Amino acid sequence: MQRRRVLQGLAWSGAVASLGGCAATSGAPSSAKVVVVGGGYGGATAAKYIRMWSAQAIDVVLVEPQPEFVSCPVSNLVVGGMRRLADVTTPYDGLRNRHGVTIVRDSVSAIDSRARTVTLAGGGTIRYDKLVLSPGVELMFDGIEGLRAANAEGRIVQAWRAGAETLALRRQLEAMGDGGTYAITIPEQPYRCPPGPYERASVVAAYFKAAKPRSKVLILDANADVTSKAGLFKRAWSELYPGMVEYRSQHRATAVDARTLTVKFEVHEDVKADVLNVLPPMRAGEIAVKTGLANANTRWCMVDYQTFESTAAKDIHVVGDSIQVAPLMPKSGHMANSHAKVAAAAIVAQLSGDQPIARPLLTNTCYSFVSAEEVIHVASVHEYVAAEKTFKTVAGSGGVSAARSQLEASYAMAWARNIWADCLA
Ligand SMILES: Cc1cc2nc3c(=O)[nH]c(=O)nc-3n(C[C@H](O)[C@H](O)[C@H](O)COP(=O)(O)OP(=O)(O)OC[C@H]3O[C@@H](n4cnc5c(N)ncnc54)[C@H](O)[C@@H]3O)c2cc1C
Repeated sequence: MQRRRVLQGLAWSGAVASLGGCAATSGAPSSAKVVVVGGGYGGATAAKYIRMWSAQAIDVVLVEPQPEFVSCPVSNLVVGGMRRLADVTTPYDGLRNRHGVTIVRDSVSAIDSRARTVTLAGGGTIRYDKLVLSPGVELMFDGIEGLRAANAEGRIVQAWRAGAETLALRRQLEAMGDGGTYAITIPEQPYRCPPGPYERASVVAAYFKAAKPRSKVLILDANADVTSKAGLFKRAWSELYPGMVEYRSQHRATAVDARTLTVKFEVHEDVKADVLNVLPPMRAGEIAVKTGLANANTRWCMVDYQTFESTAAKDIHVVGDSIQVAPLMPKSGHMANSHAKVAAAAIVAQLSGDQPIARPLLTNTCYSFVSAEEVIHVASVHEYVAAEKTFKTVAGSGGVSAARSQLEASYAMAWARNIWADCLA
């Protein structure tokens, strides 16, 4: 019934000029067409679920420049030397072969929300009936003087998108002598993955403890305190790495000197390190900002939380890290996967002439490794409150681990395998 309505209700009338190397389609398919920008946690999930929930009636084109999906979750273990990049990499074959998603290896360079077209960096345009935008975050290098050049030279890397920089940071840690200092700076909230920097500091400490025991880990945080699982992280640092991990709050980085690997702060004294991992402030992915969709402080994209449709442009649904979050909603892969399912259901309903779900629910769990063997978690459930047009956490849902444990390490890896399958298989 739903499939019939999708087919009857819409006709995609645009021709595709070029699909960046893919065979160009022509004529007017009898189904609706959704273009998904970004094949990360949000975009891959949306592409798969729109195909599944429309019983393959809706055409889905996913535009993504990377050849494979490389996960940020678990990538800190690659930095710590406990996993390889291949362990966090999944091909897009499942989306293509099992779900019939057309994958275009390119970037979207422009979106015309009135003509409902996207322009590809490689040339050509694709028309859409609905667009899903999940471009992740852009690192605001210019917020820290000298950082853009330091990154371009490879002197100071962030590794806040998993891939080449994850390996580069690992190489820097391996090259550092015993007795050296690794320093990570953390921007003010909101930023991608609240517990991520503290997990990274912990696994770097685990590596040092095993391989370079005279070394030091410095956490220089712009926030007033550890922003996630604070008690559990601090306990792990004092019990597992006494004298090795030092946490300093309210350290907002303002500049770096790449030559001397020094970071400067708004108030505090300069810090010099041997490996400097400076995380600048973040905002919605560049394509969202330049399209004018980042209408919350020109940083994040405001959406109607019931459907994830942009409040700035009709028929564009923004999911994942790029959105202006509701209270207590983290910027996480699990959350992006949840957003994408709500958006996918709304898109299928709207293209079928149905109403979106009245009271969507989102779930989130973030596991963090505090050593090679032990893990802690935070979890929450968020419900849409129509009267306030926002998501609120469900009273009594979720919480944090009672204590770090090896059992949770097995849960963490099971979570990763399951979510990769849910997004991509
Ligand atoms: C070190 C680290 C650890 C983390 N650990 C966890 C964890 O344990 N659990 C958890 O839930 N989350 C974790 N996260 C957070 C998680 O990675 C992000 O929240 C998640 O990736 C957000 O999904 P997204 O779809 O918004 O962005 P992404 O997954 O980054 O996907 C964005 C995609 O868009 C593509 N793209 C960008 N611009 C364009 C364009 N113009 N055209 C086409 N494609 C484009 C990019 O290439 C990219 O593939 C971690 C993050 C980091 C950095």
